[in-house]
Amino acid sequence: MEISFAGKRAIVTGAGKGIGRATALALARCGAEVVAVTRTRADLDSLLLECPSIKPVCVNLGDWGATEEALREAGGNVDLLIFFPIPRSFNINVKAVLHVSQIVARGMKARGTGGSIVNISSQASQCALQDHTVYCATKGALDMLTKVMALELGPYQIRVNSVNPTVVMTKMGRLAWSDPGKAKTMTSRIPLGRFAEVEDVVNSILFLLSDKSSMTNGVTLPVDGGFLAC
Ligand code: NDP
Repeated sequence: MEISFAGKRAIVTGAGKGIGRATALALARCGAEVVAVTRTRADLDSLLLECPSIKPVCVNLGDWGATEEALREAGGNVDLLIFFPIPRSFNINVKAVLHVSQIVARGMKARGTGGSIVNISSQASQCALQDHTVYCATKGALDMLTKVMALELGPYQIRVNSVNPTVVMTKMGRLAWSDPGKAKTMTSRIPLGRFAEVEDVVNSILFLLSDKSSMTNGVTLPVDGGFLAC
């Protein structure tokens, strides 16, 4: 399936590492003008070495004032928003999503050209996981935020969806799931018998951002090998 984002402008938050970084690079390869947001300058420097067309924004998304300042220029003129909330804090996982979405959706509504927003949730939004109390709670809240945003922004042709991955072995995934015994407890509950690859998640994100999903709005799409089906 050919997907092109030529002429589209995208903001990717959490783009320094992991799935966010891979998404920023994939969007740029598909022709989008990409604004990459993260808080570690060295990650942005290496991202730019890989893809010089990407526009870097270095900001801590937990700092509302600094975020508004940093996105003042870029945030008003965006077609696609991909939000990678960072675990274990309502401040970032829920409130920062709402904050950045409001900045971006304001611009989308004013321009009248619609848009697509994809939030990165988790299988943990819908299934209780041991030792993941706050994480599960924030992702559950994020799923409902996605649905309400879909309801409220739909009339402006702005679609809002989420992807809900199982474990992916990024920096974050390795921290929690490197122990083979612990990993086995999870993979044994996944019908496909493995964790997701970064590419599996990126492909679903690109689909939801693209016109190929133009009638899909308010879904929380599992990328979990069937974990939530069981
Ligand atoms: P990574 O830890 O690999 O990358 C997260 C990125 O976000 C880093 O570049 C990090 O920068 C940046 N970041 C963290 N906090 C802030 C902040 N306050 N302001 C700006 N940038 C920040 O994470 P993943 O790619 O693994 O996860 C991305 C998303 O996917 C998360 O929402 C996670 O919940 C979700 N997810 C991940 C799964 C997994 O197993 N990996 C499974 C299911 C969902 P820095 O390194 O400087 O902190």
